Amino acid sequence: MKLRSPMEIWGYLPGTNCGECGEKTCLAFASLLKERKRKLELCTPLFEARYAEKRKRLAELLAPEIREIEIGVGARAKKIGGEDVLHRHELTFFNRTALAYDVWDTMDAEELNERVRRITEWRKFYIGDFLTVDAIAIRSISGDAGRFAECVRAVAAQTDLPIVLCSFDANVLEAGLKEAADRNPLVYAADKANWKEVLGLVKRYKVPVTLFSPDLDTLSSLALTFSSAGVTNLVLDPGTYPTGEGLAESFSRFLRIRRAAILEEKKVVTYPLMAVPLTAWMRYGAENALEASYWEAAIASVFIIKYADIMILHSIEPHSMIAERTLVANIYTDPRRPVSVEPGLREIGAPTEHAPLFLTTNFALTYYTVESDISSNKIDSYLLVVDTEGIGVEAAVAGGQLNVGLIKEALESYKVAEKVNHKTLVIPGLAARLSGETEDATGWTVLVGPRDSGRIPDWMTTNWPPKSGS
Ligand code: SF4
Repeated sequence: MKLRSPMEIWGYLPGTNCGECGEKTCLAFASLLKERKRKLELCTPLFEARYAEKRKRLAELLAPEIREIEIGVGARAKKIGGEDVLHRHELTFFNRTALAYDVWDTMDAEELNERVRRITEWRKFYIGDFLTVDAIAIRSISGDAGRFAECVRAVAAQTDLPIVLCSFDANVLEAGLKEAADRNPLVYAADKANWKEVLGLVKRYKVPVTLFSPDLDTLSSLALTFSSAGVTNLVLDPGTYPTGEGLAESFSRFLRIRRAAILEEKKVVTYPLMAVPLTAWMRYGAENALEASYWEAAIASVFIIKYADIMILHSIEPHSMIAERTLVANIYTDPRRPVSVEPGLREIGAPTEHAPLFLTTNFALTYYTVESDISSNKIDSYLLVVDTEGIGVEAAVAGGQLNVGLIKEALESYKVAEKVNHKTLVIPGLAARLSGETEDATGWTVLVGPRDSGRIPDWMTTNWPPKSGS
């Protein structure tokens, strides 16, 4: 996006504050456009003939620096690219790196079904959400078009995940496209040898395509050829060499392409990037599966950080998938907003009126840690979650987001006194300095819990139920 402030965007809007977009003013709408929370189409007056020039220019200026493309269809379709910055803290990253795990056309039917099932159903609970896999890459190992088609048909019938069709043979790719073109698969790949045939295919089937070359001049030239022919749903693969100098050079190519796209505005390379950490298996071989999977995850981590928008992987062992997917989740959080949960009064287990009442903040990581420490130790209790704007306990006490007024308000608005027959509140050890003031303001007895919620079970043995008078 070339426009850096809502005021710059506002200059292209009609400026009548008519409210048709649902916002009270054009400036408010401009702020939401900047955050990509509204579509330009909502400003219907801008589509009048007299604003045609401004609308066209604004649409160009609002477009992300890196083209956003979509693979797959339906609920699990996945957007990749669409980024505007080199570093997350400059704004945010918008689309998480898509992780595609492979199957291949020499697998027997049972093995294939089982692997597709495992990939499709994989999920891991993490900070209030389930991490999942983004796509399946179907590789042609046999080189046989009929066998590839059969494999694609079987996979497409079993999963709703987006599909990547992998072969450098245009006949094999076409056999796959005949089976699954309606699933909007990503074709992998066109290179300097097959580009004419693959260009014809992707124009005919209207699907996105990956261009491959470790030589950046060749890669740029392929991108220019495809875009000039009207194919702009492109992904660039500058090669992922698995070890040593080759790996260092691969990383350098990713940096150079993304810097050229965002800082130097070289339009020819403003496309999502593909990494293939699966190449670790070519270095170590299946007979060294553990080393290969470790090294594959290490390569993946390098390119998740900079700047792969999609990658193809092989190991579906938990030690690989959890590490890769968790890293993606962490890199692609929005730095403008702490990850938070809804405030409120939670019941953990089956609390009675005698149950302890703990307090915590609505920073997601804090909340899920405390909730897990209490529930996994089977402590039936109430957990009062207060709205500290997603800030953790220690920082919220220091910054004033966690304060006596907030605690008093939470006790009252969630009608906590109607749930328990005592008036004892357990606050985190990191909020100890609020204890006296909270007792004065609320009339509740305050016990200071441990600094680390993992110690709550120990703390309970000596502190709960509270001794009379405390
Ligand atoms: S619809 Fe367009 S002109 Fe009307 S308030 Fe919204 S941004 Fe302004």
